[in-house]
Amino acid sequence: MAKYVYTFTEGNKDLKDLLGGKGANLAEMTNLGLPVPPGFTITTEACRHYLSRGSVPEGLDAEVEANLAELERTMGRRLGQADDPLLVSVRSGARFSMPGMMETVLNIGLNDESVVGLAARSGDERFAWDSYRRLVQMFGRTVQDIEGDLFEEAVEEVKAAKGTTDDLDLDAADFRELVGRFQDIVLERTGRPFPSDPREQMALAVKAVFDSWNAPRAALYRRQERIPADLGTAVNVCAMVFGNLGMDSGTGVAFTRDPASGQPGVYGDYLQNAQGEDVVAGIRNTVPLADLEKIDVRSHAELMGIMDTLENHYRDLCDIEFTIERGKLWMLQTRVGKRTAAAAFRIADQLVDQGMITLDEAVQRVTGDQLAQLMFPRFDEAAVAGAGVRRIGHGMNASPGAAVGKAVFDSYTAVKWSRSGEKVILCRRETNPDDLEGMIAAEGILTSRGGKTSHAAVVARGMGKTCVCGAEEIDVDTKNRRLTAPGGEVVEEGDVISIDGTSGEVYLGEVPVVDSPVVRYFEGEIDPASDQADDLVRSVDRLMHYVDAARRMRVRANADTAEDAARARRMGAQGIGLCRTEHMFLGDRRQLVERLILADTEDEQRDALAELLPLQREDFAGILEAMDGLPVTVRLLDPPLHEFLPDITELSVRVAVAEARGESHENDLRVLQAVHRLHEQNPMLGLRGVRLGLVVPGLFSMQVRAIAQAAVDRMAAGGRPRPEIMIPLVGTVQELEIIREDALRVLREVEREHGVELDFPVGTMIELPRAALTAGEIAENAEFFSFGTNDLTQTVWGFSRDDVEASFFSAYLEKGVFGVSPFESLDVDGVGRLIRIAVEEGRAARPGIKLGVCGEHGGDPASVHFFHRVGLDYVSCSPFRVPVARLEAGRAAGRTAG
Ligand code: PEP
Ligand code: MG
Repeated sequence: MAKYVYTFTEGNKDLKDLLGGKGANLAEMTNLGLPVPPGFTITTEACRHYLSRGSVPEGLDAEVEANLAELERTMGRRLGQADDPLLVSVRSGARFSMPGMMETVLNIGLNDESVVGLAARSGDERFAWDSYRRLVQMFGRTVQDIEGDLFEEAVEEVKAAKGTTDDLDLDAADFRELVGRFQDIVLERTGRPFPSDPREQMALAVKAVFDSWNAPRAALYRRQERIPADLGTAVNVCAMVFGNLGMDSGTGVAFTRDPASGQPGVYGDYLQNAQGEDVVAGIRNTVPLADLEKIDVRSHAELMGIMDTLENHYRDLCDIEFTIERGKLWMLQTRVGKRTAAAAFRIADQLVDQGMITLDEAVQRVTGDQLAQLMFPRFDEAAVAGAGVRRIGHGMNASPGAAVGKAVFDSYTAVKWSRSGEKVILCRRETNPDDLEGMIAAEGILTSRGGKTSHAAVVARGMGKTCVCGAEEIDVDTKNRRLTAPGGEVVEEGDVISIDGTSGEVYLGEVPVVDSPVVRYFEGEIDPASDQADDLVRSVDRLMHYVDAARRMRVRANADTAEDAARARRMGAQGIGLCRTEHMFLGDRRQLVERLILADTEDEQRDALAELLPLQREDFAGILEAMDGLPVTVRLLDPPLHEFLPDITELSVRVAVAEARGESHENDLRVLQAVHRLHEQNPMLGLRGVRLGLVVPGLFSMQVRAIAQAAVDRMAAGGRPRPEIMIPLVGTVQELEIIREDALRVLREVEREHGVELDFPVGTMIELPRAALTAGEIAENAEFFSFGTNDLTQTVWGFSRDDVEASFFSAYLEKGVFGVSPFESLDVDGVGRLIRIAVEEGRAARPGIKLGVCGEHGGDPASVHFFHRVGLDYVSCSPFRVPVARLEAGRAAGRTAG
């Protein structure tokens, strides 16, 4: 028979799936001999059973009964015993921490009789009645769903009658009165008296905790944090200890290192004569942990010893909650603590130095997302102190980055101003899907309402846009297009503000932005061995060295200018995985393409191509030089042809005006006809990629010739060019065959002309489902595959990125259809499956075929792990993401990789 209840002596830290994080760690601490109040954990399995069937599993009640009896024996008191009651807390605790999302009920076991016993035993009548009213209040709110305001109002009334605003002025009689009032509220709202039977209180509280797993805010939090919805929560039943029994009692939270900077040394807060919820509610100011030494030297020393034990045991930063009850220290919780990105790198590095972990473990303790955060530009702190810039408010740091722009108060203005080249910050009370366009247009988003899971926060994070949300002290007045800061500063529409999504600060004026030291290090501007490098840079450098040696996959960059290529190389790119050629045909060269497309005769066509050739050769020469000695995959022209033609409306107007004036307009008319002919309803699925190469004669061969000639020039200059020629949007091997043969013919021609050998691989993108499904055939004609996961995602899902991201994606994310956009993180089940097929069949047909990816997923941490697992040779991503991909490729290859 299943076991649904574990005492704290039975569990351990590895049973998080079953006991939740809190329960598993309470058990671990108990087994370490640390002072944990006794208790037991009801498993997540019991919760899942309850949630799916609507009733607790058979046998659970008996197990709870037996464990409670055991707890009572240990404590020498019975739950709710009239003369000396055992009280328990009932707390949620899921596998993954979901702070504040689920329920807790304290002081279970109090009723009209046992409150008297508690008063007598504690010698503190006020404490006993305060505890009782807390029980009725929490129970009423969380178990019985009564609006919390009703209780708060009653407290306010009693305080008002007493002429005070401070809880501390209330005495035993006041709390007793509150208990009476609260009981009346319960009776009135539920039609039943407050349950006085402690067992009934406990059973109802357990069910309420189970139910809280499905509370809307918890469900939303899970979707955003990508926590599976079917895990359920464990429930911890624990003997109560009290931090509110006088000045020799108290409660606190602590970290074994500073979770913000990663500095060694304990760090925390303590509040005398208080319970945990008082710390969270911030009703009184806490004191730094160091002050505890003066207040209670023995408990302080014991706590320091315990923190040391925990850090050595968990081999990581731990955070803890503790309570001191009349001079006796109790541990209420511990876990491996959350930390900032900078602290993650610092701590991992320090733990290696201390011999606690290996470098391989250290790199598992940091993530690519954290590294990306360290690479965001930041506000120049020196300039913040300077004239003209003032901090005017603070909100939640919802999406990192530093954004500067003119304040606008609606989406329409955001779009309009940004179209005319202005940088704007969209300021709203809160955002909704109607604001999406404005959010896209803005540099950053500031809201005065809503938390880190609000629409603004979620969508901004999804878009990688800076966001400060829930800045409640700032009054956003959208009607009058202004905001008022708590200090009285008024920001009118058009005034420049700066928002810091990493700290949550809001500034009036333009704060200059600087590159982060980590970027300067990657750029080679900071030598990690010099004094210029701070501890963070040194930590990053150490871990990067390790991952570079550990990883199997190579990391290339997507770059299509010599500058980008050079930058990518500084960032550690080992070549270019995608050099797009479309921008090379814009600007002045556009008319050449226009001539090419509209040419009536072969001569005209040849002329246009001949003019393009040297220009293209220049483009490639610069890139090959920047990446000398490393592979450069050049993709032949991809986008729809009509993108190179004039705008249809403009042209129609021109033709109409000329006609009306009786002016000659033959050329415009000809172009207009061509534009009409080439106009497509769905350009994404139209005449592009290899299809273009097949219908516009000479275009692809001109590009291949330009690549070959650029390589010849580079060789003549002593370089080692390594171009690779890539054909886009292939759906069938026949397309590839034709273009490939032509490309090889051109290469041979150039070889003959210059008397050199040009052994350049010709390969294809795999970016259509059909290509993936026929990869075996295609591989026979391709020396490499590069997965174009942008188009593959579009075509597998059947949606066009440009259209859907701005329209229904935020709704999909909100509804949890996906936890993250499939354009951001690879859809492993769908797109990933096609990639697997293509890898297997491609390798079977051509062992040794080189496989890479050049869609944006190449720089996404989770996707990089997938690409490692399926055995790709390299990933390619934007230059700025190269360090992230290097780190994740190394983590994926690590011995301890999960
Ligand atoms: C792709 O489709 O993944 C790709 C890299 O090509 P593009 O984004 O240029 O279409
Ligand atoms: Mg593509």
